[in-house]
Amino acid sequence: MTEQVDVLIIGSGPSGSTYARTIGDAVPTARILMVEAGPVIPGIRGDHTQNMTDEERAAAQLLTQGPDEGLERAQALSDIAEGLDPSLEFRHTILPGLFFLDPRPALEDGEVGLPAASMASGVGGMGIHWGISCPRPSQSERTPFIPTAELDAALDHAEQLLGVRKWDVPGTGLAEAIRAAQAEEFDGPGLTPVGFMPAAYRWEDGRLRFSGTGMILGDIEETVPGFELRAQTLAKRVIVEDGVAVGAALEDRVSGETYEVRAHHVVVCADGLRTPQVLFASGVRPPALAHYLNEHFQVSAFGALTDDFAPERFDNDPEHVGYVIVPFSDERPMQGGILPLMNSPYRLAVAGQEGAERLTVFAWYGAKDIQYCDRIEFSETETDFYGMPKMTIHYSRTEKDLQTIEQLKQNARRSADRVGGLAAEPELAAGGSSLHYHGTVRMGAVDDGTSVCDQHLKVWGVDNLYVGGNGVIPTATATNPTLTIVALAWRAANQIALQLNERVGTAATAAR
Ligand SMILES: Cc1cc2nc3c(=O)[nH]c(=O)nc-3n(C[C@H](O)[C@H](O)[C@H](O)COP(=O)(O)OP(=O)(O)OC[C@H]3O[C@@H](n4cnc5c(N)ncnc54)[C@H](O)[C@@H]3O)c2cc1C
Repeated sequence: MTEQVDVLIIGSGPSGSTYARTIGDAVPTARILMVEAGPVIPGIRGDHTQNMTDEERAAAQLLTQGPDEGLERAQALSDIAEGLDPSLEFRHTILPGLFFLDPRPALEDGEVGLPAASMASGVGGMGIHWGISCPRPSQSERTPFIPTAELDAALDHAEQLLGVRKWDVPGTGLAEAIRAAQAEEFDGPGLTPVGFMPAAYRWEDGRLRFSGTGMILGDIEETVPGFELRAQTLAKRVIVEDGVAVGAALEDRVSGETYEVRAHHVVVCADGLRTPQVLFASGVRPPALAHYLNEHFQVSAFGALTDDFAPERFDNDPEHVGYVIVPFSDERPMQGGILPLMNSPYRLAVAGQEGAERLTVFAWYGAKDIQYCDRIEFSETETDFYGMPKMTIHYSRTEKDLQTIEQLKQNARRSADRVGGLAAEPELAAGGSSLHYHGTVRMGAVDDGTSVCDQHLKVWGVDNLYVGGNGVIPTATATNPTLTIVALAWRAANQIALQLNERVGTAATAAR
């Protein structure tokens, strides 16, 4: 007999997990099947790799690298860096746990590609590797057709799901000294004020714990008996009959067996690159699918604090990570991040180096000028490592983008000059290294051909088919997206839960 579930979720990252948790909380009797192409990671389900021992962490990272599973990224670095200076383009982009889409793209005229575009495949998706920064979108980053109060409520809820910790202004110690200096430089009328980066972490028994995807799922296995997370299971395509999504064709990646599962609702949360891939493979190809691809530019540099900001001069709160943020504003469509490494929770290779207590990262992200022509092309004949339609990225920069990149470099210098100095000139990171790929299944207010889904993430023209993830973000942003996509998935999942409850109610009435 063909398996039947209420909700089939494709992808086990933060977006898919938000759908599962939200629907499960609202309808604990629901049968929810979440399929994940990658493997199970040993240990606590969905735990962040930063919470693991060094050995466990290295093992987990090797497992989620898809075609590069088991390959040390150092090996990848020497491979990818052939003919390139690894200290420049790819310096910040060779991250363990991930694999590249195509680090040597064949570029057409005027294209720059996204050579560092990367993915992760394993239970928890990128949400077991992520950097936990959770700023809220500001001004024009916010989706204009979602009412303000509704978006704020969704962001509030997303902060709870992710366990986000926030720090009020003014703060204390070195963190406050840096914030105040940056505020003097960057605050102004109409600009979102400088503050501290909200982050998804907590302290437990004196240890810093990062929120992984498991935090979102909570104890769903106990509270929702009909929930199942099936790893090593690839969704080949969504089955659409008469304009309604009714299930998916799945492949067991261990046995190679393919089979179908029927579902009342199908949700595709397979990341910003692979969600449109699944839709394409399913024959769901609205004109905007995989177009309007955009990621924020990333310029970063290391610097050192001056004597005035020497950490030992301050009475520092040991629980404060001290990450200062210059938020996005329409007048300055970029986000600055100033992170002194003294108190950094991130396990960076520089820790322990001479002078490391004054080392500081200055990272500036700038919004892309969104273009229809920036897109993923899917092959009708060639396939990728997973047997899905092969992806080729077409991506170029506009004049406005070139100006943005210049301003990012200037602002990185300005932010460093206020508190110290840069060790080297700020560099633009290789395209794709943001890991935030937006626009490919973007939301729209109406179905006018420029969007793929509505504001509740339902795909236009196909009933019962929903999407999630960075690809749904329609605006030009510089803010890290995960908080936003969790908020958007929460809103969408509430719609599905309502429909499920209505169905249960209707069935009960019919049975009486
Ligand atoms: C090192 C790093 C640092 C980051 N730092 C931050 C940060 O500080 N702040 C922030 O906001 N964001 C950050 N991010 C990005 C963040 O992790 C992503 O925004 C988030 O994980 C996206 O969630 P998602 O569920 O949409 O996709 P993912 O987490 O990518 O999960 C998608 C899952 O779908 C699976 N999948 C794909 N195709 C299929 C298929 N056909 N069938 C079945 N399964 C499939 C994949 O295997 C994957 O596990 C960072 C990411 C990394 C890697």
